[in-house]
Amino acid sequence: MILGGPRSRRSNVDPRWILRARRARTLLADRPHTAALLQFYLSILELQTAVCAPIDVSHWVTTVESPGGGDAPRLQLERLPVNEFSVTFSTFCREMPETAPAPVTHAAGAIAGARAETRVDLLMTLLTGEELATPSGVLGCEPAPLVFLARAFLSPVAETLSALAPTGAAAPAAVCPQCGWPPQVSRLEDESHTQGVRRLVCALCAAAWIFPRGVCPACGVSGEEGLEFHVDEALPHLRVEACKTCRHYLKSVDLRVLGLAEPLVDDLATPELDLWATEQGLEKIAPNLLGL
Ligand SMILES: [Zn+2]
Ligand SMILES: [Zn+2]
Repeated sequence: MILGGPRSRRSNVDPRWILRARRARTLLADRPHTAALLQFYLSILELQTAVCAPIDVSHWVTTVESPGGGDAPRLQLERLPVNEFSVTFSTFCREMPETAPAPVTHAAGAIAGARAETRVDLLMTLLTGEELATPSGVLGCEPAPLVFLARAFLSPVAETLSALAPTGAAAPAAVCPQCGWPPQVSRLEDESHTQGVRRLVCALCAAAWIFPRGVCPACGVSGEEGLEFHVDEALPHLRVEACKTCRHYLKSVDLRVLGLAEPLVDDLATPELDLWATEQGLEKIAPNLLGL
């Protein structure tokens, strides 16, 4: 491998995401059938680094911090002044890499050419969790690529705010205690006092929080009627955690088996497990960034 050089790819990714990029490059070599998917993911990390990472969000922490306390998420991201993002979001869409799937390229062009308030509506719709029917109709695009673009743009903003906001020992929550989004993936690791601690990793802001091992995050059931596990022998550090009661699933990454795994990336790089789950009639708690 040729290292360094003035256009070393490593330097094109924000330091916070270096481990994700490194893991994606490793998996790209190890799992050639996912190469196109991972190449696209890497180019999105570079675009997020160029366009999203420079957005200074620090002065908005107090704007989005939840006044409440209690079990409410600490951040209310729908209070973000998304109208200030209109131009940057347009740039993000215009610079979508050529390797993007055709529906994403089409949607990116429509968003970049749309009126500012349409872009703002789309971003706000993602943050409030409302139906995408209106922006989808106005832009003449399917909802899925619109969700991808809005989420890829807003995730780094959410991740920055989530890291800046105070965290605390909340009760085990089924959704992210920072931003209220559902978990993307589960991870297992040993800690100094406890073996096999399970954390859920947020689908939007990437925060991780402790959650009981045997409990389904979607419906709260445990025991006989709760989770069952599916392992693919080619991927010993991964398993599908599927709930017998509500038929939802998410993947779990065991960092004790493979310490170099990056749960968000390993989830993206194993579409065969999602295919298997779909064939079983299971529904993912939260599709990942690439919609799998
Ligand atoms: Zn979150
Ligand atoms: Zn369940």
